[in-house]
Amino acid sequence: MIRPFTYQALPMRVVFGVGAVKSLPQEIERLGYERALVLCGPEQESTGRMIADALGSRSAGVLAEARMHVPLEVADLARDRALALGADCCVAVGGGSAIGLGKAVALAHGLPVLAVPTTYAGSEMTPIWGLTEGGRKRTGRDPRVLPVSVLYDPGLTLTLPTDLSVTSGINAAAHAVEALYAPDTSPIISLMAEEGVRALTNALPALVRDNGDLEAREQAQYGAWLSGACLGATTMSLHHKLCHSLGGTLDLPHAATHTVVLPHALAYNQPGAPQAVAALRRALGGTADPARRFWELAGELGAPRSLRRLGMAETDIPRIVDEVLADPYANPIDVTAEGLTGLLHAAWAGDPPPPHAAA
Ligand code: NAD
Repeated sequence: MIRPFTYQALPMRVVFGVGAVKSLPQEIERLGYERALVLCGPEQESTGRMIADALGSRSAGVLAEARMHVPLEVADLARDRALALGADCCVAVGGGSAIGLGKAVALAHGLPVLAVPTTYAGSEMTPIWGLTEGGRKRTGRDPRVLPVSVLYDPGLTLTLPTDLSVTSGINAAAHAVEALYAPDTSPIISLMAEEGVRALTNALPALVRDNGDLEAREQAQYGAWLSGACLGATTMSLHHKLCHSLGGTLDLPHAATHTVVLPHALAYNQPGAPQAVAALRRALGGTADPARRFWELAGELGAPRSLRRLGMAETDIPRIVDEVLADPYANPIDVTAEGLTGLLHAAWAGDPPPPHAAA
């Protein structure tokens, strides 16, 4: 049976493949822009400079100041620099932090962003922006921040360390998982989500065996694209709410937090999401209990499985429970203080999630 749905396609242009970044000058020309400010984090400065060099006269310079969660002062600096250099677009090169900085400039004065993602976080596929001021992160949706063109070049992800590749890949899979039971999911999103999980979970073991496996890098980035598109098109639920609270309140690392929480949030929601469970069973190669399989996979890939290992204190659990309950996201299963407390205790300790009753 097909549930009634509304589907709003987001405008997206994707250039995908090894060497895709070489077509950036043509992309900028095709879009009619003349001077691009390249934005990246300090660790990606050499990549940013390489891209600026390739742009030649279309480069307005490089700003290598991107930081996690887009601090307001960095966003102001980027906006001022873009204006001072006469840039008419930005090229954001890097993970969610660099792309978030590009979005902040787009939000401040409408400069379009082109994105060259080098992690699997998926921000480039969403109209969601975030800005942090005085320790508080504000987020919102605005179509102006959606990149006008995204160049996925798997070659640029070869330097992403194995541990970050794994957690970033599971972070991406979490977008697809929650899209499967989102209140505004649709058949097309379900197709993308299932294929995204399949591609990512096939690629990650290959990347752990050989971090330089370019075919696995292609698969992982393909899965990240699909999963990012799912994030952009749907409303996220308990898993993302928990990760936002844990990241925002306790400053836990973004992708690793997603990796630890996913099996537990999914186990909580599985009884209320039979279609999602069926899709995930197919994507994960026929497993009976997808939540348990994500927990096992994290262990096989050497990824963290406990919030304790990420630096959270057990005494922080009630704070997070209160925060999640104060402003809950839509969810297929009622979120209760008791349920959340149990979930967080298991995630904190690194225990397996409770078994799926219908497994
Ligand atoms: P990140 O961009 O901070 O990158 C993580 C680390 O990886 C950094 O140290 C970076 O220098 C390094 N790195 C990135 N690419 C590399 C490469 N190819 N080789 C070597 N090192 C590399 O983190 P992230 O996980 O990509 O993104 C997380 C941020 O993005 C968070 O702030 C999150 O809130 C945001 N985000 C936003 C959205 C959205 O839709 N707005 C979606 C997902 C994530």
